[in-house]
Amino acid sequence: MFKGILIEKDDAGYRASCKTLDESVLGEGDVTVRVGWSTLNYKDGLAITGKGPVVRRFPMVPGIDMAGTVETSAHPDYQPGDAVVLNGWGVGEVHPGGLAQRIRLKGDWLVPLPAAFTARQAMAIGTAGYTAMLCVLTLERHGVTPDHGEIIVTGANGGVGSVAVALLARLGYTVVASTGRPQESDYLKRLGAAEIIDRAQFSAPGRPLGKERWAGAVDTVGSHTLANVCATSRYRGVVTACGLAQGMDLPASVAPFILRGVTLAGVDSVMCPRPDRIVAWQRLARDLDPSLLDLMVTEIGLDDAIDTAAALLEGRVRGRVVVDVNR
Ligand code: NDP
Repeated sequence: MFKGILIEKDDAGYRASCKTLDESVLGEGDVTVRVGWSTLNYKDGLAITGKGPVVRRFPMVPGIDMAGTVETSAHPDYQPGDAVVLNGWGVGEVHPGGLAQRIRLKGDWLVPLPAAFTARQAMAIGTAGYTAMLCVLTLERHGVTPDHGEIIVTGANGGVGSVAVALLARLGYTVVASTGRPQESDYLKRLGAAEIIDRAQFSAPGRPLGKERWAGAVDTVGSHTLANVCATSRYRGVVTACGLAQGMDLPASVAPFILRGVTLAGVDSVMCPRPDRIVAWQRLARDLDPSLLDLMVTEIGLDDAIDTAAALLEGRVRGRVVVDVNR
């Protein structure tokens, strides 16, 4: 028996609760892991509250991330005692997830815990931080270097945004943080933002083209914000799009793409191939100042995860949440 969050959906409705679970809730797989830490991402917020169609099988243990220690393994790459990390692959959506003290899954989905991080730090990074790194790698792949000019990060106080600001600043980029929480300016400056701007200037319908400013962008917000960021990108700027905190729509024109050669590059973490994940985690180990994780992180226990999920979706959580599943 072990403790975990369980999402159920039946005639009594959609509900999440913290319960004592048994092996019958575990999914199929060749590796069983004793979970040490998990986390709450935006997607976990949607899953736990039922505000988005994230969970596609019931009952479901949510949690798209976890870090822990292998308990049993029939996978050639993993032995009992190995420290591992999991991000995505449909875990917490169609396969029972990381917000529990045990998880069983395919060893092919796991990444060895980088030596640079503790399990708690890996979850302070989580899918949010690993996605931020994928965005940075995408900017690099498209040739955006610090001398090209300013990079805008939208949703800067969120999980993806916070890690993106820290990574880009450490790599020498000039980072402009867009946020609806100007009261957190000191926090964003400590992460490395050179300037803080009000997200309101991007939130409403805008013109097809605006004054050129951004050499690159990490957009976690979508909708009008993404359209306006594209419209104000510089000639041959690169916009990485990974999120939908404002909305899933994209009310844009083709003007930035056909007149300024702007690139809109999509970033997905869930099905990202294993070699790219390993590179992303290696680069996180190299390029993220671990002391900044302490600044970003709020720690909770499993029992708190349900209330905190709602707060996250309401934009009341700064940075990242780590979940101690054994508390
Ligand atoms: P968080 O909730 O931690 O951060 C989202 C941030 O977006 C908020 O903190 C807020 O930042 C901003 N925001 C919220 N509502 C609005 C709004 N209506 N208009 C404009 N800005 C808003 O979420 P995460 O950082 O975990 O995830 C961010 C987004 O990225 C989510 O949409 C998530 O689904 C997506 N994502 C996608 C991944 C992928 O694989 N493509 C992987 C991980 C995340 P502020 O207060 O600074 O304005």
